[in-house]
Amino acid sequence: MLSEFDLIATYFTRSIRCSERIALGVGDDCALLSPSPGMQLAISTDMLVEGRHFFPGANPYTLGHKCLAVNLSDLAAMGAKPLAFTLALALPVTEHDWLQAFSQGMLALADEHECELIGGDTTKGPLNICITVFGEVPLGAALRRDAAKEGDDIWVSGTLGDARLALAGYRKECRIDEATLHAASKRLHAPTPRVALGLALRGIAHAAIDISDGLFGDLRHILERSRLGARLDVDALPVGAMLAHQPQSMQRNFALTGGDDYELCFTAAPEQREAVLAAARAATVPATRIGSVEVAPGLRLLDRQGHAIESEFASFDHFLSP
Ligand code: ADP
Ligand code: MG
Repeated sequence: MLSEFDLIATYFTRSIRCSERIALGVGDDCALLSPSPGMQLAISTDMLVEGRHFFPGANPYTLGHKCLAVNLSDLAAMGAKPLAFTLALALPVTEHDWLQAFSQGMLALADEHECELIGGDTTKGPLNICITVFGEVPLGAALRRDAAKEGDDIWVSGTLGDARLALAGYRKECRIDEATLHAASKRLHAPTPRVALGLALRGIAHAAIDISDGLFGDLRHILERSRLGARLDVDALPVGAMLAHQPQSMQRNFALTGGDDYELCFTAAPEQREAVLAAARAATVPATRIGSVEVAPGLRLLDRQGHAIESEFASFDHFLSP
């Protein structure tokens, strides 16, 4: 049986590589960050609880990836560059294979984004993983939810709904074949945080949010904070490759309300269309224009012909759903 300190030393302590911004990492009472002059620190925490955010017995490698990915996604949505993160971990047992795979999945993604693990806390308890990320953004350049402007285009990165399709497959809400489930489940288990896109959109986009709970609900956060409304062309939504083979009603529903895609939804002035597309190309992820910001409050869903679609859609809420 590993002691807490052996465990931290074995799986979660590495020599710091990008030491310019990180003066002290794991091992002392605090880590020390040295933000660059003129930068603001962007800080975000996301907790993943077994049985709530991931299935009991989830693959530890992809779980490690996802825990960090959802946090990096928040930095992406602010246009912040990842710097470092801390990991608070409650573990029922200390099992070498699990810890090795979990830490490898997490640290591989950390390396991809040069985001250093600088500290944390480890305790015995029901499996619970809480990461706090720290990023940097130039003063005043963060892509805030309250910054949408009347007349802005509404954009979304990548594709929507395949993560929700995988969940539907696991829950047997619909029948999908093994190959479809396998492909869709990659979106659910191993999301790609759109960090490069968030950085490329600095100075171009006005407001941004990452889609964790579904486009419909997450876009509403932007609109409420910006005290504006919007119209969405539901037929313009970039539907996931697997979802595209499903019935139209499911495509609309999952693309609008499915969580766990971790794409970016953002707004930008129509004059910035070319700049947005160039930013997306540079970040090697598609960006699709799906609507526009209007003064009248609320979110109006229209089909390609401009007909209103009744919306009974609600965003996923952990306290309302069973
Ligand atoms: P303290 O007693 O001050 O709370 P701990 O004994 O919990 O410190 O942790 C010792 C060191 O190991 C600290 O630097 C802490 O940040 C780090 N640490 C603890 N758990 C983790 C973890 N899961 N991942 C990374 N660092 C960790
Ligand atoms: Mg501690």
